[in-house]
Amino acid sequence: MEQLKIKLANIDRIELIGGTVRRTAQQVFDSLTNKPDYLLNAGMYDTKSGLTVCDTIVNGVLLNGGNYTDKGFAWDDHNIEPENTAAAKARGYKFFLGGSPSLLWDGVTNIDSKGFDNYFVSKAKSFRIGLGVNDKELIICFPTVKQTLPAFAGMMAAAGCRYAINLDGGGSTRVMQNVNGKLRQLSSNKENRANSTWLAIYLKKAGGDKVKKKVCIDAGHGGTDPGAVGPNGTKEKDVALQIALLARDALQRCGIEVVMTRNSDIKNGRLVIAERCKIANEAGVDYLVSIHANADSDRDDKTGYGTETWAYSKKSAGYSLAQAVQKELVAVNGLTDRGVKIKEWAILKGTKAPAILVETAFINNTQEEKLLTDAAFQKLTAEAIAKGIVQHCGLAWVPEPAQQYNLKVIAIDGSETLCQIEQENRNGTIWAPVRQIAEVLGCKVGYDADEKCVVINR
Ligand SMILES: [Zn+2]
Repeated sequence: MEQLKIKLANIDRIELIGGTVRRTAQQVFDSLTNKPDYLLNAGMYDTKSGLTVCDTIVNGVLLNGGNYTDKGFAWDDHNIEPENTAAAKARGYKFFLGGSPSLLWDGVTNIDSKGFDNYFVSKAKSFRIGLGVNDKELIICFPTVKQTLPAFAGMMAAAGCRYAINLDGGGSTRVMQNVNGKLRQLSSNKENRANSTWLAIYLKKAGGDKVKKKVCIDAGHGGTDPGAVGPNGTKEKDVALQIALLARDALQRCGIEVVMTRNSDIKNGRLVIAERCKIANEAGVDYLVSIHANADSDRDDKTGYGTETWAYSKKSAGYSLAQAVQKELVAVNGLTDRGVKIKEWAILKGTKAPAILVETAFINNTQEEKLLTDAAFQKLTAEAIAKGIVQHCGLAWVPEPAQQYNLKVIAIDGSETLCQIEQENRNGTIWAPVRQIAEVLGCKVGYDADEKCVVINR
């Protein structure tokens, strides 16, 4: 089997070109100012008009749709998301390519062959071509041996695809590589057919500026919207902001560019969800992480303890990010693991990049409310969220630099003594041994056994 695997991290962008007239690979290549590294045929088209017949969005315009499956891939740059046509259009994606038909959905064979007859599905045809993805790679398969669609779906799965669609195969199959400005054919059919829709893949240039990962951190609520309020008056908007700011610091330490929806409380009014999504979408972030504290809901859950993370859908790249963050959180916070949950929260739906929402703990029970106000707990939560993001981005986690000293003694003459003493943060209060502090201050420390007390001489 012939296949091409490209790491998503190495892809700068993917463009869907054409959709209305038929052109050869060379004609398309010649028409482009910036030459792609790979060029391959995409969806099926009407041989007379040249117009694409599968669901196709090129530069935000839906060229055709409704004839075949609505399952396909949606993207703006290289963040390919499995989507259906209606959602891709509603969420305003620049590109959408529907399957002709779909092959794999969430790792399971799913041949949604609306519009195709059984003959098309079950006839073993040669030169099939499929496009698939998993969390890390874009995978293009173009076997030379005849395949039925179910057998081809199995091949795409074996190649590592979690989602895959069939493209327009047979004589239309063209997988071309740009070698020093000249197109070289990787697929093996002989025809040089003019196709309607083409996928152009641009790799990040070696030696060029390494594109930094960009993450939007959204501190939930703010301003006139306090979010949930704990029994002792703790406001969700305040703890969300503290955790968000600490998560920002940790992400920046690891080389990630951070875009905040808010850096402080909001002076007047509130920050509506659409505005938060707009900030993330306009900044072109790779991910959005929205930080919240949970509260009991009489509707579906009365337990009211623990940590949970939400993703937009199980097929979104946000799902594996949610899993990574949830894992890091429950590994250190000692709270109940309520798992990763799915819901089309407005913030997740309105953000084009994979987005998650973290419910750090329940603010409406006194134990977890107290934790949420504790500086050490906020720090530990923020670091865990950041660690999950960093690892999901395939970057190295950079721990906080070890403190050189944690106590500074300033004498009356202004001279400074820096030293390290043992310390422990207990619910926001730093505890340290009396003896060590006294000795740093130049005192003698003893113990009076009769009085059963520590004696400090100065
Ligand atoms: Zn909230």
